[in-house]
Amino acid sequence: MPQKKHVIVVGGGLAGLSGAIRLARMGFRVQLFEKNERVGGKMNTRRLQGASGEYRFGTGPSLLTMPFVFDELFEFAGVERSSVLDFVPVEPICRYFFSDGTRLNAYADKQRMAHELHHVISPDEARHYQDFLRYTERIYDLTAEIFLFTPFQEWKKLLRARYLPTLLRLPQIDAMRTVHKAVTSYFHDPRLVQLFDRYPTYNGSSPFEAPATLNIIPWVEYGIGGYYVRGGMYRIAEEMMRLAEALGVEIVTNAPVEKILHDGKCVSGVQVGDEKYSADYVLCNADVVEAHNTLIDGFPQRKKRLNRLESSLSGMVFFWGMKKQFPELTHHNIIFSSDYRREFEQIFTQKVAPDDPTVYISISSKTDPEHAPEGGENWFVLLNMPYLNGQNWRNAQERMKSAVLERLLAAGINAESAIEAESVLTPQDLYDLYRSNKGSIYGISSNTQTAAFMRPANRSRDVRGLYFCGGSSHPGGGVPLVVLSGKMAAELIGEDAGVR
Ligand SMILES: Cc1cc2nc3c(=O)[nH]c(=O)nc-3n(C[C@H](O)[C@H](O)[C@H](O)COP(=O)(O)OP(=O)(O)OC[C@H]3O[C@@H](n4cnc5c(N)ncnc54)[C@H](O)[C@@H]3O)c2cc1C
Repeated sequence: MPQKKHVIVVGGGLAGLSGAIRLARMGFRVQLFEKNERVGGKMNTRRLQGASGEYRFGTGPSLLTMPFVFDELFEFAGVERSSVLDFVPVEPICRYFFSDGTRLNAYADKQRMAHELHHVISPDEARHYQDFLRYTERIYDLTAEIFLFTPFQEWKKLLRARYLPTLLRLPQIDAMRTVHKAVTSYFHDPRLVQLFDRYPTYNGSSPFEAPATLNIIPWVEYGIGGYYVRGGMYRIAEEMMRLAEALGVEIVTNAPVEKILHDGKCVSGVQVGDEKYSADYVLCNADVVEAHNTLIDGFPQRKKRLNRLESSLSGMVFFWGMKKQFPELTHHNIIFSSDYRREFEQIFTQKVAPDDPTVYISISSKTDPEHAPEGGENWFVLLNMPYLNGQNWRNAQERMKSAVLERLLAAGINAESAIEAESVLTPQDLYDLYRSNKGSIYGISSNTQTAAFMRPANRSRDVRGLYFCGGSSHPGGGVPLVVLSGKMAAELIGEDAGVR
């Protein structure tokens, strides 16, 4: 029997796990090295002890979209996803609090959403929502196949006949105006403009700069649906790890890769501590820019080009164990700042922590009560932040905590006295933990019309046998997309090795 080709995966984030599972299923021998004690990368978990008991938190993603990506991955590996992971639709998807005191529940259910908009905002805007949703669906139909499901930098793949009709319709993807411009062409009410301007932040970008093509994101949430994973989001990482191991992937944790080894043309393996491990292929789930800065020697031009790409925004997370419950909040909540444009100006242009941040609060104990002691709640409080640029995060942290509590108070929610356990993640922590370039959450921002084309490909242009997956490579950040990036990279490796 011929010897199995050997792939080393650098990093056990969702993209690395996705690639590892597929490669093992395709018959490769797969070894995965993860620098941290647990796999999952940004999808992770932490526990806090309060006087009333233990609080459990997910540290990263709180909303799952495009669940079919997981169905397909598990099916490929011979397991029915629903037999191991329970995806729970969350309705309302989110409760929005505006600075004028309005509260709005957003639903994926179209009739409930139309009813809510009709009564809380206006009958006209409820109609405009239907038009807007059709427009976002159109963008999804036009772009998903090529921009999300195909490694389109492999230009030969685009020559397939089935892509031609889509390619001919590409001028309709609304890339020439910004998200904000497009949103204001559908809605007149500033509250709805602010609500739909929020979506580009889910790939780390600004509505005032990102192309309107990113209006695909509301369709993903409202058209396809937003889910929570029963037991906590980290269940996904646990089941992916289990699946990978069942297929024979050797997972080594507490094992930071120090170098990806190559001879200038071909990859030969990796170095972990003093040990060198040889491999036929290396799949790098570490951030592509960071990998070129620290792991891959040589190629100064590539390094320069990559470092010119703008990082996505970062975040600050407060994990609060709350000793009481807040019926005015639901599983997902967004409390908007009073001046969105100023918030983005501070984040992306001035690169400082905003003085009036929009506050996102996810409370998984609303769906999984065992995540908090009886009578309490586990608050995951996320604020958008600039990527690392020499800021002092310990100072910003104090300022942000006061700003959050003030914004909550203005929305009628007195939170401060209920906090009995606390921990914080700053952009610096995101860098230290996951080595994501400049602490970015989603890799590279989409703040230009060409960003999708500039994003690093899944196959190295410099080193044969080296591949990339994860938020900083094609097709970008967010849970479903990074899982797709692992798929595309694994398929490219399979093609190169002559494996179907
Ligand atoms: C606070 C927060 C909220 C989010 N909310 C959502 C959400 O609601 N919905 C959504 O879809 N997405 C969300 N995301 C984004 C989502 O979590 C990421 O896009 C996704 O998890 C990234 O996966 P990845 O595999 O690309 O990278 P990572 O998760 O960063 O994985 C990379 C892995 O590589 C490891 N590594 C790096 N360098 C080395 C090395 N040299 N050697 C060995 N290992 C190495 C890292 O430790 C890490 O485990 C959120 C992220 C954060 C941080």
